[in-house]
Amino acid sequence: MSDRPLPSDASADDAPRDFLRDLVTADVQAGTHAGRVVTRFPPEPNGYPHIGHAKSIVLNFGVAEQFGGACHLRFDDTNPTTEDPEYVTAIERDVRWLGFAWHGSTRFASDYFGRLYDCALRLIRSGKAYVCSLSEEEIRQHRGTVTEPGTPSPYRARSVEENLALFAAMREGAFEEGAHVLRARIDMASPNMKLRDPLLYRIRKAHHYRTGDAWPIYPMYDFAHPLSDAFEGITHSFCTLEFENNRALYDWVIAHAWEQPAALGAAPGQTEFARLRLSYTVLSKRKLLALVDEGHVDGWDDPRMPTLSGLRRRGVPPRAIRQLCEQVGVAKANSTVDIARFEHAIRDVLNPEAPRVLCVLDPLEVVLENLPADHRETFDAPLYPRDIGKAGMRALPFGRRLFIERDDFQETPAKGFRRLAPGRAVRLRHGYVVRCVGVEHDPASGAVTRLRCVCDTDSLAGPPTDGVKVHGTIHWVAADDAVAVAVRLYDRLFTAEQPDRGKLGEDFRTFLNPASLTEVVGQLEPAAPALAEAGPVQFERQGYFAADRPSSDAPSATDADGRQVFNRVVTLRDTWAGRAAP
Ligand code: ATP
Ligand code: MG
Repeated sequence: MSDRPLPSDASADDAPRDFLRDLVTADVQAGTHAGRVVTRFPPEPNGYPHIGHAKSIVLNFGVAEQFGGACHLRFDDTNPTTEDPEYVTAIERDVRWLGFAWHGSTRFASDYFGRLYDCALRLIRSGKAYVCSLSEEEIRQHRGTVTEPGTPSPYRARSVEENLALFAAMREGAFEEGAHVLRARIDMASPNMKLRDPLLYRIRKAHHYRTGDAWPIYPMYDFAHPLSDAFEGITHSFCTLEFENNRALYDWVIAHAWEQPAALGAAPGQTEFARLRLSYTVLSKRKLLALVDEGHVDGWDDPRMPTLSGLRRRGVPPRAIRQLCEQVGVAKANSTVDIARFEHAIRDVLNPEAPRVLCVLDPLEVVLENLPADHRETFDAPLYPRDIGKAGMRALPFGRRLFIERDDFQETPAKGFRRLAPGRAVRLRHGYVVRCVGVEHDPASGAVTRLRCVCDTDSLAGPPTDGVKVHGTIHWVAADDAVAVAVRLYDRLFTAEQPDRGKLGEDFRTFLNPASLTEVVGQLEPAAPALAEAGPVQFERQGYFAADRPSSDAPSATDADGRQVFNRVVTLRDTWAGRAAP
C-alpha cells in the first residue's frame, strides 16, 4: 500500500462507510486505478426510474463525490425493441432532480457499437469467439444444468476465417433473426453457467431509437456492459446481487476483448450490493408498466407510484429520498426496507421546511352568534411552531361564519373526547375560545348541519375570561375567505407488505389498496396557495400537502370544477403502525 493521502472528506468522520467504500478506499490507497475513482449509473431506457434506482444513483454519485472522482450517466441501450427516448429524458431529469450532475455529456452504449464490433472481431481472431448456428432452443438444450456439464455446439470448431466471414455477413444483414449468434468460446463444463459459451451478439432486424437501421446485430448486455465500462475508464462498477454470476464473464470479456491502455491502471471491477426492496411497494419495471397500462394508476407520475416522477408529483422532497438511501446504506444481503422508514424520512425533511396552514377537509359550518354579520378581523399567525425557530407570519382572516372539521364535534361526546360538544368550549388555533350553544340538524336525516357558538373576544392572548374549561385546540377557516380546493388523500398503493410475494402465490394486483386515493373538497385558508408555490405545506393536524404539478414546468393542476388540487405527501404520523397485517 502506498501512503497516498485520501481526499479530505473521504476520511471525514461523518462520511458514510460500507464495504464498497472500504474497497474504494483500499484501491485509492494502493493506487490500483492510478488513484482514479470513476463510477457510473447505467440504466436501460426502458421505463421510468423508481426509488430502487435512486439507491444506485445515490451510491454511484455519492462515492464519486466522496472520493473526489467522477460519475458517468450511461444508457445501456443495447435492446432496440424496448427502449425509447421518452425514458432517456425522464431518467436524465430525475437524476438531476435528485441533486446529482454527471461528468461530461450523457453517454450511450449505442455510441460504442462500432468499437464493440471491433472488440468482437478481436475475440474471433484470437479464437475466443465463434458464430454458432444452433437455434435458441438448441443452445438452451446444449447448455446443460447446474449439475451436468453442457455439450459443445457442433459449430464451436469453425475456423477463424469462416467465423470472420459469417460475422461480417451478419453485420451486413445477410441473415434472418435467429439464424446465427456470436458466442464466446470459454468452457461448456464450467460450474458457472454464465461461462458456458455465452451469447455476445444476436441478429435483431429492429429500428434503434438512436442508431436507426444501421445495425442488424446487437451486442448482449454481458458483452456491452463491461466493455462500455472499460472504454470510459470506469474504476468501480457497482451492480445488484443478481449479477454475481456475471462477474466472471465481466472479467473475461474485458481481459480478452479489450486492449487496455496502460495509463489507466487496473481494469474496471464489478462489485455487487443488495437491491432496495420497499414494503407495500413493487419495484419491477414490468409490474410498474402493468399498473400504468392497465389503468390501476394514472400514469408513470401518479403520486402513488414509487417512480421518481410519481414521488416528485406527490411532493416528496428529493432530500428525503437521498436520506433514506443513505440511512439504508449498502449491504451484501437482500432485505426489505419498511416503507414507514421512508415516510419518516419525508416528515423529517418537511418538518422544519413546510409552513403550517389551516385546512378543513370535512367542513361543518359554525356561526358565532355574538358577532355581527359583517365582523371582519385578521389574526397574525406564525408560519412555524416555536421549536422550529423560523420567522414568518401570515394574516389569518376571521369572521362570523367558520368551518371546522366535522369530527372535531360530537353531539354526545364519547368518553375521553376532548374537542367541541354542546356546552363545551375549544380554542380556535391562533384565535379565540368558542363555546357551542346550539346544534342544527337536517330534519330528514338528523345529521348535524350547523353549530351555533359564541366567541370570547377577550381570550386571544390568554385563557377565557369566564373561566370555562377549554377542551383542546382545533383548526378552522373563515367561511367567507376560505378557498375550496380538491384534496387528494393518497395512501399506500398495496395492502400487503410484500405484494409480489403473496403467500398463496397471488398476483400482485390482488393486493391493490382500494382506498389508495380518496378525493375530498377542502376549505383552505387564503394565504396557503401562494405559500404552497414554494413547496409542500403542512395542513395542521392533517399532514403535509403539495400543490399538484403534473410536470415540473406545468402550473398546478385544477379539478373539473376549477379547484386547485393538493396532494397529500404524507400523514403526520404512521397511521399503519397499529393496523393488523392483512
Ligand atoms: P428490471 O426491473 O427491468 O430488471 P433494472 O431495474 O435492473 O431492470 P436498469 O435500468 O438496468 O433496470 O437499472 C439501472 C441500475 O439501477 C442498475 O445498475 C441496477 O442494478 C440498479 N437498480 C435497479 N433496481 C434497483 C433496486 N431496487 N435497488 C438498487 N439498485 C437498483
Ligand atoms: Mg437491469
